[in-house]
Amino acid sequence: MSAVSPFLLSSAPGLPIVVALIGACVGSFLNVVAWRLPREESVVLPPSHCPKCGSRLRWHENVPLLGWLLLRARCNHCGAPIAIRYPLVELLCAGLWVAALLAQPSAMGPQPQSWLLVAAGWLLLSWLIPLVLIDLDHLWLPEPLCRIGLLLGLAVTAVIGFQQNATVGRELLFHHLVAAGVALVGFETVSALAQKLIGKPALGLGDAKLAALLGAWLGLTGLGITVYLAVFGGAVVGSIGRLTGLLGKHQPFPFGPFLAAGGAAVWLLGNDVWLPWLGLAW
Ligand SMILES: [Zn+2]
Repeated sequence: MSAVSPFLLSSAPGLPIVVALIGACVGSFLNVVAWRLPREESVVLPPSHCPKCGSRLRWHENVPLLGWLLLRARCNHCGAPIAIRYPLVELLCAGLWVAALLAQPSAMGPQPQSWLLVAAGWLLLSWLIPLVLIDLDHLWLPEPLCRIGLLLGLAVTAVIGFQQNATVGRELLFHHLVAAGVALVGFETVSALAQKLIGKPALGLGDAKLAALLGAWLGLTGLGITVYLAVFGGAVVGSIGRLTGLLGKHQPFPFGPFLAAGGAAVWLLGNDVWLPWLGLAW
């Protein structure tokens, strides 16, 4: 990681700490989104409360990581356990936000690291977290989250592309649009074929929409690498799960987290880091 352009870091050495703290707060909010969105509750109101007894959290119990440690993983009022997932997601989000500072994305054309690119990374990585959590919980990728995330990807592509120049802007936008379309059609075709061959859907329709979202952000090459990483990761984890008996023989498991992790890896490290590995694997 020595090639990482540290202009953002050299200008402010304390920056990663500040960014990690903001990332942890965003992660705390994304926990709420992942809990409430499938239950059709507002993500803003009412303020954070214990899902068991409904008592409101005081401000210091709401502090990311610290709140959970202070409460010793239990609700202060009814003693209901608070899952370790909450601080883990906050930690993950903090880490991803710092990683986005150091990222070398190639999805938006060859250009030096800029605040715009960093902010784009924060948006993409944060957007993927509730999708992963909801898919893990409900085997479901909410359509509005995928659709808005896709549109945001195209908007960010247009802004960053046209900011370079009109030709780059048009080309990037075209490639990312094509990638989103290819992802949608490709995944739905595979799903339909699988349905015909084995008589049940191998992929959820949500996977096609999440792949389209990633195509809109990463372009065709990035999407290809993402799908490759996701299939590979899914196969490894699925095999281990079945062999160890953690997964039942025909028990479905969500593919969204693998797509999201692949997409995040492609955004953070850029296409060039992954391409040689894919060549080796062939
Ligand atoms: Zn409680």
